Amino acid sequence: EQGPPRLLPSPPRFLVLLNPRGGTGKALTLFETHVMPMLTEANAHFTLFVTERPNQAREVVQEQDLSTWDAIVVMSGDGLMFEVINGLMERPDWAKAIKKILSILPGGSGNALAASINHYSGHQQVTGTKLLTNCAFILCKGHPVPLDIVSLTTSSQQRIFSFLSLAWGFISDVDIESEKYRFMGYARFSIGTFVRLTALRTYRGRLSYLPASSEEKDTTCNGGSSSSDSKETQILVDSLLVPLDQPVPSHWHTVEDQFVLVLALYQSHLGAEHFTAPMIKGPGEGNIHLFYATSRISRKSLIKLFMAMEKGTHLDQEIPHLFHVPVQAFRIEPSESSGIMTVDGEVIDCSPIQGQIHCGLGNVISM
Ligand code: ADP
Ligand code: MG
Repeated sequence: EQGPPRLLPSPPRFLVLLNPRGGTGKALTLFETHVMPMLTEANAHFTLFVTERPNQAREVVQEQDLSTWDAIVVMSGDGLMFEVINGLMERPDWAKAIKKILSILPGGSGNALAASINHYSGHQQVTGTKLLTNCAFILCKGHPVPLDIVSLTTSSQQRIFSFLSLAWGFISDVDIESEKYRFMGYARFSIGTFVRLTALRTYRGRLSYLPASSEEKDTTCNGGSSSSDSKETQILVDSLLVPLDQPVPSHWHTVEDQFVLVLALYQSHLGAEHFTAPMIKGPGEGNIHLFYATSRISRKSLIKLFMAMEKGTHLDQEIPHLFHVPVQAFRIEPSESSGIMTVDGEVIDCSPIQGQIHCGLGNVISM
């Protein structure tokens, strides 16, 4: 029986991975002032591991005996959670390892997963230390639920595992170009959005997808056979995908166009104040939400889109040339390699990439 654990043992034992450079660099202090008192109050045991460099957290979760902890808590932005999930998937016992309960505490500038979990748990949209306190409270309540993971494959055959988003065009440009305003904290995204709007870029390419309404589904969804049944040496099989050098199956949809943005999102929030996918009510619903805008979209519409996104009302009225489709799988084929692509806010090579959802492959503390 490998079903998702429903409750944490008492007292719970947490491995806390903290990036001291996340956001404006205050994560360690915030952990001591805001999180530690709550963990003590909740009688939780924890080991604090402060990362010294990129990829260290990834190595830690690859090497450790995971049975030492009941949950892995990440205090950083989404980037450190990305390392943890990919580290778990790189283990020989990945099928078991990826079931380890995860938890997020916002300590970065891009805290999309924390904002999403705050939302699923019924809290109002907040930022800063309010969001941190809410997430620490959710952690102390300790209720794990399934977490969808999207398996991505690049043209160089690299596997990447993602819990949040894949972005190409406007959104990834803002995310990466605004790195230089990191000292501003979350404001970097607003500044970055306006900078990019004044010099709008478009990207030519092909976008293909398998609509969620199709008969074909990821079989692990809704009580199907869980991938943890598979032999430990096997790799996670993407049953909905054909190799990238072959055309997509004929029942997929394809759009060939000049795009301003393409975004595949599988959590409600793209950032603490970006309520981008209000239709998502939990971390394990089993759909990828594909958003794209073609070059015919006006600047005025884009401004409207990003302003309304804060409250999640951007889909209430139709915005011309902006599209939203729930999908199970997708493929992006950029015509040029000059653009920026990000997975969970981390830069990857801009080249053909495809992915499919694995419904509830992971577990995360939410509610
Ligand atoms: P933010 O939201 O502020 O960008 P992230 O969690 O996304 O925060 O982290 C940003 C990057 O920092 C990630 O690529 C992560 O791998 C890297 N990182 C982790 N630990 C350290 C460290 N000690 N020093 C510098 N970078 C680190
Ligand atoms: Mg980041």
